Amino acid sequence: MAHNDPRPAAPTMKPWIAGIHAYVPGKSTGADGRKLVKLSANENPLGCSAQALAALACDHTPAAYPDPDATALRAALGREHRIDPARIVCGTGSDELLNLAAQGFAGPGDEVLFSRYSFAVYDIAARRCGATPVEAPDADFGADVDALLAAVTERTRVVFLANPNNPTGTYLPGTEIARLHTGLPSDVLLVLDHAYAEYLEPEEVDGGFELAARAENVLVTRTFSKIFGLAGERIGWATGAPRLIDVLNRIRGPFNVTASGQRAAQAALGDHAFLTRSREANRSERTRFIQAIEALGNHGLRAVPSKANFVLVLFEGAVQAETALQAIGEAGYAVRHLPGQGLPQALRITIGTPQQMDDIAAVLRRLCG
Ligand code: PMP
Repeated sequence: MAHNDPRPAAPTMKPWIAGIHAYVPGKSTGADGRKLVKLSANENPLGCSAQALAALACDHTPAAYPDPDATALRAALGREHRIDPARIVCGTGSDELLNLAAQGFAGPGDEVLFSRYSFAVYDIAARRCGATPVEAPDADFGADVDALLAAVTERTRVVFLANPNNPTGTYLPGTEIARLHTGLPSDVLLVLDHAYAEYLEPEEVDGGFELAARAENVLVTRTFSKIFGLAGERIGWATGAPRLIDVLNRIRGPFNVTASGQRAAQAALGDHAFLTRSREANRSERTRFIQAIEALGNHGLRAVPSKANFVLVLFEGAVQAETALQAIGEAGYAVRHLPGQGLPQALRITIGTPQQMDDIAAVLRRLCG
């Protein structure tokens, strides 16, 4: 390059990308490189449905591209949830769809709104497309509809709400979701992120599908990564008005769900017994673990009420979250510390097997002396 050439010596990052902190995934190794049992990524301790495993193992042709439209999977999802498959799009995990929702409807100068202590990808999704992420205050670690509505400006284009929420496990009932939707201008896209919805009791569902079926501005996202136990296959899906689905279809990767993923998801969807077993195991272990934390309440430990497959434990006494993280690591387990998300004195612990939860509770009891 000539000495006085005004061009930079290397490709220049866009200014909005410079503000992004790369997503830090749940760890599976300790500081010393030791392999840990992973209770840090909200995976299903029961694995996945045997039917999904069989579908993954069956003969396929890796040289061929997958069905770009995931036709059979969308039809199966449509039958399962009574949704027109034309109102469904599949993604490389629901992460892809969250990013596409931001990209499709927000850009430089726009705002993307979400609650404090919500899923880290919302901030990244907003910044990726040059929009400004805006955090509304929480209400005791959960989303606060009044605070979200108060934070809406004429620049707000997209609102993300995880229900149940990650990393807090908190949940808003259908009446609150309806109130949020009613309060939003009709040109604002409301994305209801249902990554953990299958862990709710059937009577608890928040009405997101009904809203997405009749409103023009609601997208519901779901995933096969959590209760279905297929995180490694990367399959998510979204439903909403055809206009919204059309936007996501324009900008998604053309072959964004692998053939094996499509097959496994379809098989997993039909295994209701596995889902019931997973939900029940999660509920009973979560209840038992929360009771163990409550028993340490006089030492400043507190469990945020959770409807998901993890519990956010707050350390409000002498025991520091970091100390607990280290002791849990020494006992062989990885859990999630989220200081970067404003939670330096909290650990998010995935609900594992009874033995795993007993081990973690024993470490915490020991620390409390
Ligand atoms: N939404 C929430 C709230 C999550 O916690 C996660 C996973 N951590 C996702 C979406 C994305 O999951 P996936 O991309 O595996 O579908």
